[in-house]
Amino acid sequence: MMPIFKKAIPLFERIEQAGFEAYFVGGCVRDYILGKEIADVDIATSATPQEVKKVFPRTIDVGIEHGTVVVLWDKDTYELTTFRTDGEYIDFRRPSDVTFIRNLEEDLKRRDFTMNSIAMDKEGHLIDPFHGQEAIKQRIIKTVGSATERFHEDALRMMRAVRFVSQLSFSIEIETLQALRKYAILLENIATERKTVEFEKLLQGENRKAALQLLLDTGLFQYLPGMSNHEKSLTQLLQYNLKELSNIEMWSLLLFLIDISPTETELFLRKWKLPVKKMKLAKSIVDWLQFRHHSPWDNDSLYKAGREIILSVERLFNICHHQPLCTSISDVKERYEGLMIKNRQELAVSGHDLIEWSGQKGGPWVKGKLDLIEKAVLHGEVDNKRESIREWLLNCNQN
Ligand code: ATP
Ligand code: MG
Repeated sequence: MMPIFKKAIPLFERIEQAGFEAYFVGGCVRDYILGKEIADVDIATSATPQEVKKVFPRTIDVGIEHGTVVVLWDKDTYELTTFRTDGEYIDFRRPSDVTFIRNLEEDLKRRDFTMNSIAMDKEGHLIDPFHGQEAIKQRIIKTVGSATERFHEDALRMMRAVRFVSQLSFSIEIETLQALRKYAILLENIATERKTVEFEKLLQGENRKAALQLLLDTGLFQYLPGMSNHEKSLTQLLQYNLKELSNIEMWSLLLFLIDISPTETELFLRKWKLPVKKMKLAKSIVDWLQFRHHSPWDNDSLYKAGREIILSVERLFNICHHQPLCTSISDVKERYEGLMIKNRQELAVSGHDLIEWSGQKGGPWVKGKLDLIEKAVLHGEVDNKRESIREWLLNCNQN
């Protein structure tokens, strides 16, 4: 058994001593069978959240209404979720209420795909009533029970199927795929945040090309925020080598291909409910990428864009030209590092100096003069030294 599972065994023993059951479930069991690396384990238990809190002295409530309690154990944290069935599904979304149960199989039955419905006990025995191992062997994604029903219960599962195609390079089993095509429109009912999470995971998966193609073929893309009119851009995105792009670079490239006005760009990003910081950065990268398509970098643009943006823009520029990602990167890096200053704070003089030297009162003129000095330093017209700048100011009659 892998160390990540072994480490949790004392916790399982504690639950069992208290008269309850516990199993590893979900992605960790699937990934274990696949021989993939596992980042964290999910545990399902017959104990209710209150019972879990009685068994373990240190816990945090995270989603108690859905049955999840975090247990602090040794130096690790574990998410324990009570066996449950989901209440009634209304509007094709996750149910608001859940019922806690004592039976593992019922809990496995509510899970989305057979590959995700396998449990493993502390000895490493697999409990697999829905033939998840067989699906993993065949590399297929298949709903537990009727795909039509399962997608009507929670339409996000359709997006999850496609993101697993991207992450695992599995294919979608035929009936599941047919239901996905037929009911793609149900995705309209799903909260943006949930779609965004899945879309971002999809973009980062190794098999993203096939997954993006599936979004197009099944029509699912139409129900992603702001995407209904952008089939062409999504098709274009497929032609590029997206490997090794960061999350923010993916968004920027998508925006660049969509090619909308700055105001529309902002609206588009808002529709996805991305964090403000991320929206701003993506927008900046797109602006600079547009600039980069009609002119090479010069000292002013390198300085204004800054290191992080320059590198992303250059990588995307290379991708757009079907060149290896790293083409020209070291050259641009070197040029940036060679700039006399990287920001205003690095100027050898401050507004205070200017006021003192001129004997005048402060005012808007100070900023104007600092702008001039900044430019002169960047262009190599004057060294970034106090005395040199003072002299330069006197010489060009600027003092
Ligand atoms: P990842 O590697 O991305 O964490 P995962 O399979 O663990 O993949 P999670 O979103 O962490 O995915 O969910 C954990 C488990 O919960 C899944 O394996 C699945 O059994 C179940 N699950 C998650 N979302 C749903 C859903 N919308 N409908 C049914 N079951 C779900
Ligand atoms: Mg998980």
